Amino acid sequence: MIEQLRKDFPLLQTHIDEQPLCYFDSAATTQKPQCVIDAVNKFYRQDNANVHRGAHTLSAAATTQYESVRNKLAQFLNVSQREIVWTKGATESLNLIAYGLSEKLNQNDVILISPLEHHANIVPWQQVAHRTGAKLELLPVSKQGILDLEASKTLISAKKPKILSICHASNALGNIHDIAALIQVAKQFDTITVIDGAQSLLHLRPDLSAMGCDFFVFSAHKALGPTGLGGLFGRYELLNSMPVYQTGGEMIERVSFSGTTFREAPGKFEPGTPNISGVIGFGAALDYLDAIDANTLAHHEASLYHYLVNALKKIDGISIWGDTERNIGVVSFTYKNEHHFDIATFLNTYGVAVRSGHHCTQPLMDHLSLQGTVRISLAFYNSYQDVDILIDALKNTIDMLE
Ligand code: PLP
Repeated sequence: MIEQLRKDFPLLQTHIDEQPLCYFDSAATTQKPQCVIDAVNKFYRQDNANVHRGAHTLSAAATTQYESVRNKLAQFLNVSQREIVWTKGATESLNLIAYGLSEKLNQNDVILISPLEHHANIVPWQQVAHRTGAKLELLPVSKQGILDLEASKTLISAKKPKILSICHASNALGNIHDIAALIQVAKQFDTITVIDGAQSLLHLRPDLSAMGCDFFVFSAHKALGPTGLGGLFGRYELLNSMPVYQTGGEMIERVSFSGTTFREAPGKFEPGTPNISGVIGFGAALDYLDAIDANTLAHHEASLYHYLVNALKKIDGISIWGDTERNIGVVSFTYKNEHHFDIATFLNTYGVAVRSGHHCTQPLMDHLSLQGTVRISLAFYNSYQDVDILIDALKNTIDMLE
């Protein structure tokens, strides 16, 4: 089945220096199936018009398509469509939320995040803490880079934070967090919970109603969709209680020089012309995912991940960081004192695409006393053959470096 699915991704058929591409950088961005490329293409060839503003046929059709994807995503996440806001990506979503919640903070408040966060879930809170006087504090993480769940629950109870913002799954290490358990504790103290789902949307397909979070952010390009698009779920009353973030056309109810009024959420957070083709392309990605059995994909990803981890463990000198028990399919490793960039560069000569560096998680790298790692990130379209090529290339790389 996976062999069949791979054929849906044109770029997986490509060659790098005459060698088949082995793409292991899906945590940075996933490859796109042909249906997504076709949907974007079709929009510009046949349907292109602006949304929400024209009486003409094309505009009405574009609006219907655009809004139907909001509905589709709401169903995918099991929330209401009025709780979905489109943004440029997870980064913009987190900035919007941090800005919106800053009005609720003062110097007596605590914002709790984890040392495992992507910079996008650190810096906006740092800025807000700076402006409001609130304290930014950290959940406990082991030397190996694993969140201590029990100690985290105890810390939430002790600190009673105003906001808890944490990733569902770490982009640098792949660890999956027991979000439901953390939210259950946070709810006892009316803590507002923000979940960075950039890495989990594709791999874990979360049911947000069951999860019970107040906010959830994502990037479409990490879930087979186009770049430049993302969004957020926000619990409606909370979303509507927040101030507007960016202003301009579309998000207003009435503009006059004696004062301007704004639309209800989600419209009030969507100023200007949105990424219409991106949304329509993402709709095709959601349809694509809906048509495949999620359990089959999850099973394939899990077995491929264990196959990879076992192969890496057999290579002397490799250290794997993070949680290899609960993981979305990301392996972050170092080899002795060799530089991660050198390893990634050698791997590239074999057609193997991995990421190297700090993965936008510098505080985590500091915590692990590392400059960076080599990151192999899997998606369901990776095959066992990809992993075999990777392992052979890595062994050759190590021979060259020694
Ligand atoms: N959060 C996590 C966990 C991520 O992995 C990323 C991107 O790698 C982001 C946030 C930011 O996403 P984007 O760059 O698409 O805005």
